[in-house]
Amino acid sequence: MSALRLMKLAEAIRFNESLPIPVKWKRATVVNGIAKKTGAIIGGKIGHILLMEDMGDKKRGEFLCGAEIKNPFAHQMLNMSERNIDSSKQERVTCRKCLAVAERMKRKNGAA
Ligand SMILES: [Zn+2]
Repeated sequence: MSALRLMKLAEAIRFNESLPIPVKWKRATVVNGIAKKTGAIIGGKIGHILLMEDMGDKKRGEFLCGAEIKNPFAHQMLNMSERNIDSSKQERVTCRKCLAVAERMKRKNGAA
């Protein structure tokens, strides 16, 4: 792995760890389905915050921003594995809505 790649990876992990999410979460994309011929995942490019535990009125398996889960079966199969929680965070969360919700939580926690 190149030094540049390592730096990007470390930066992404640091960024993701700075997000004030009080429950277990993963970085994940919306999964629409799986290509029949190639088995490739058909999904979004945006990295969301996916809750791996209930958090207030949001439930385990929901995206923090409320992004629609179009294919619950594929979502369950591909996104809800507990095994890659750490490796999922090697790429930055990019969803602006998820980050905005996280930012609001930080302010709320700071005021308490
Ligand atoms: Zn999102």
